[in-house]
Amino acid sequence: MANFKFKHAVMSAGKSRELARIHYTYKQKNQYVVVIVPSTDNRNGEGFVTARSGEQIRAFSVNPGDMRRWFGIFLKGMDELYGEDQKIDCILIDEIQFFTQDDLFAIKELACLENNIPVIAFGLKSDFKNEMFEGSSAAMIVAEYIEEIETICAFCNEKAIMNLRFQDNNPIREGEQIQIGDEEYRPVCHKHYLDDGLRIQKRRSIVWL
Ligand SMILES: [Zn+2]
Repeated sequence: MANFKFKHAVMSAGKSRELARIHYTYKQKNQYVVVIVPSTDNRNGEGFVTARSGEQIRAFSVNPGDMRRWFGIFLKGMDELYGEDQKIDCILIDEIQFFTQDDLFAIKELACLENNIPVIAFGLKSDFKNEMFEGSSAAMIVAEYIEEIETICAFCNEKAIMNLRFQDNNPIREGEQIQIGDEEYRPVCHKHYLDDGLRIQKRRSIVWL
């Protein structure tokens, strides 16, 4: 049986860069990697993982809640097209937090348990309200291995463990979990998560008021 690995991180810690690195390693060995992203996350256009370096990797865009059905059809299609000639060496999933609990159990069961395909999932652990994402808590349950991609606070040198949302440059800790708009996020330590005096400027430069 293949394993499920969950690599979690705060915002801007380099999740997509790490995914791109692993993807490259498999490609170098001529292995077949399937990359999956939730359709919720279409910042960069559906069907791509974009690292901050600008590198783009093609991905399958799957609707949250549809993983069991989609992956079943995908496996059947692969089998009909290629039979034993093409096996999937690894599945990489980005933004796992946006998937449902059943999506996570489905991919673990269908890929790892039934077809011996390892899965490496990347995602945020908690949202800007410090609540767990459904997909991430399910990933913690099904994962044999849990790793953290670490980074430091945007406002000091402590380890960042939380995500702070800024709207119109002000920190906010309430609102919808998923919002595609003008807000920006920063990785922060616990102390700075609570700091109402923080302000940011666009283009990722940071100022104190
Ligand atoms: Zn800090």
